[in-house]
Amino acid sequence: MKRTRSPRPPRSAPDTEALLKEARALGLSSSRLEDAYWEARLSNQIDTLLKGKDDDTLNAALDHLYQSDDRGYEGLVDLVESRTESHSTGGDQGDDLLLIAIPILAWSRYSIPSGPVSAAILTNVRTQLMAHVLAADTRLALANALFSPDQIPPGFSATARFTGQLGRAAQQNVDFHVDAGQLPEAMHFLSDNRYILAAVAVKHGAPIFRWQEQDGDREQAEAQWKQQGGEVLRPLFPGCAIEARLPLAFFSACRDTDRAARGYAIQASVAFLNATFPEAADQLQAVIAPFHERRLTEYRIGFTLADGAKVVHGVVWPLLDAEDENSDVPGQVESILTAAGVNRITSLDHAFPAEYCDDCGAPYYPNQDGETVHAEMPEEEGTPHSRHLH
Ligand SMILES: [Zn+2]
Repeated sequence: MKRTRSPRPPRSAPDTEALLKEARALGLSSSRLEDAYWEARLSNQIDTLLKGKDDDTLNAALDHLYQSDDRGYEGLVDLVESRTESHSTGGDQGDDLLLIAIPILAWSRYSIPSGPVSAAILTNVRTQLMAHVLAADTRLALANALFSPDQIPPGFSATARFTGQLGRAAQQNVDFHVDAGQLPEAMHFLSDNRYILAAVAVKHGAPIFRWQEQDGDREQAEAQWKQQGGEVLRPLFPGCAIEARLPLAFFSACRDTDRAARGYAIQASVAFLNATFPEAADQLQAVIAPFHERRLTEYRIGFTLADGAKVVHGVVWPLLDAEDENSDVPGQVESILTAAGVNRITSLDHAFPAEYCDDCGAPYYPNQDGETVHAEMPEEEGTPHSRHLH
C-alpha cells in the first residue's frame, strides 16, 4: 500500500533473486522497447507469485531495492501494483479490468460507520460515478461494503484475487456482494478513511475515466464528484463530517487518501476541540515534535488548553513516500493549524522515541514542557475516543 518500507534483512531466495535481477535491468534500460521487454518478463513472474499467494517474495524484493536505493525499485513497485489492481482478458478483443477505490475522509465524535451498504445507496453511487467520473462505455461492479483501512484486502495477492472477482462482476455490469460480517472490526478514531471498492471493465484500450475522453476535464470531474458524489454518500455517515475524494485506481486512491488524511485529522481535531471546549477556543495550543523508531517515522501533535502540561487530544502525522527529516513537515502542520484558527504553536526539535501506552496502545504526545504524555480529556467532557480509563 504505502511505499514507505521498514528495514528488514534482505533475503536471497531464488524467486527474489530473479525478480531483483530483472527489476535492476529495467531500472537501467535506455529505451521504451527495452522497458517493454523487461516489463513483460517481470509481469509473468509477478503473476505467478500473486497466484501462489507469495507476498513474501514480492515484499522481500521491494524491501531490498528500496533499502539499496536501487533504480529498479520504482519500476518494480509500479508493475507489482499494476498486476495487482488491473487485468486484461481475452487479447485484443477482450476487456481491461481495473480495481478502483472511492475514498471518503470522515470524522465524528461518536463513531465512523463501516460495513454493509444498501442497494439504494449503491444505485445512487453508480449513477454519480457514471455521470461524472467514469467514461461513457464503462461497465461497473460496486462492492456493497464500506471498508475501513484495516478491512481492505490485506496484501498484494489478496487484492489481486479481489480484483479478479470484482472484475468478473464488472464485465457483467452487476454489483458484487461482500460478506461484511467476515471483515475484521474497524478500529475507532476521531477521523479516519473509508472506501467503497469497485471494478471497471472496458473494451481493451478504451478510456476508463471521464477525463480520458475528448471533452473530459479532470478538475471538473473532481469538483462534480465531491459535491454530488458527496451528497449520495452522506446517508452512510450519520453524525459525521465527510469529504468525498476523487475515485482513482486502487493504489493511487489509497496513497492520495493517506496523504490527505493527515491534514484532515488536524482540522477535525481542532473542530472537535472547539466544539467540546467552546469557552476555551482561544486557549487552544499545539505542540509539534518529531518521533523516531530507529529513524524519523512520524510527527506527533499534542493539543493543550490553558494548562500546557495536559494534552487533551493528539494527532499522528506519519511520514509517507520519500519524506524524511529534510521535508518541511512542521511548516506544513503549522500552516494547517493556523488556517484552522490555532495560533499558539510550539515546534520542538528534540527527537522523541515513538512510544505508546502499555495499557491501551495510544501514542504519547508532546506537551508544552517538552515531555511526552497520555492524551486525556477532562472528566465530564470525555468521549469514547479519547477518555483515558487507566
Ligand atoms: Zn492508555
